[in-house]
Amino acid sequence: MLMTDTTRPVIELRHVSFGYADRAVVRSIDLDVRPGEVVALLGPNGSGKSTLVRGLLGLTDQLGGEATVLGQPLRDLSERYRIGYVPQRHTLSGSVRATVEEVVAVGRLPHQGWFVRRTPEDRRAITEALELVGLAERAGDDVSTLSGGQQRRVLIARALAAEPDLLIMDEPTAGVDEASQRVLAEVLRRLTASGRTLLIVTHEVAALRDVVTRIVELTSGRVSFDGTPERYAEHRREQIVGSHPCPPTDPPHGSHLPSAGPLSTGADHA
Ligand code: ADP
Repeated sequence: MLMTDTTRPVIELRHVSFGYADRAVVRSIDLDVRPGEVVALLGPNGSGKSTLVRGLLGLTDQLGGEATVLGQPLRDLSERYRIGYVPQRHTLSGSVRATVEEVVAVGRLPHQGWFVRRTPEDRRAITEALELVGLAERAGDDVSTLSGGQQRRVLIARALAAEPDLLIMDEPTAGVDEASQRVLAEVLRRLTASGRTLLIVTHEVAALRDVVTRIVELTSGRVSFDGTPERYAEHRREQIVGSHPCPPTDPPHGSHLPSAGPLSTGADHA
């Protein structure tokens, strides 16, 4: 892995706006993410989570502010491979026939095809990625024979194979059954134990309650909460109590939290 400055934030945003053409969707936000942090990005649909993530990946326009990612200004970030990305609700069924190992290798050697000669370093990184997601024994299997949850893990391994310094995941636990959610949460726990910096867009923070160290909530393109999961539970309680006697009929997505008590079970979302 490339040497990372362990003191500098991995992401530094100062009054940053991201959007489309000249319409800012993420509006003048400040955000520092430090090495090893595991940040859940929450917010209602349309609040700008994807736009923020796409902005960090250089896929939406930066319309203002100063953005530094992995120590480089975002506008001229040359080493985008240092940011891993696991896209939303993506599975591999129906795509070209390939083994699990071949798909993961694409994350390591994106421009060189599957059959290129791999260095020992490449082989090590690919094997480690497969082991981390618990699929080493399926390496030679056709990806189409894997379940949806297993395919998510293949996609995580594909991103990990490049040994990124920052891994961004969009809804990694959405749309899979409860058992797969638990396995995915365990994979994320292993990733965090290895000190990786993660930014996870999720609606299912309860399922990831042991994993995330920090919650950032967006509302209408602005940061409406930034703090620990425990503090977030209090924040949600205060919002609900504050709105009494007419609680919102459509509470913000991303909460999935009880109206009282700490982040809880997560067993309610298959
Ligand atoms: P979230 O991920 O929180 O659901 P998005 O970032 O997808 O929110 O969307 C925020 C806003 O950005 C929405 O109003 C949406 O219409 C707008 N938007 C998203 N993608 C595009 C696009 N490609 N072009 C123009 N506007 C977009």
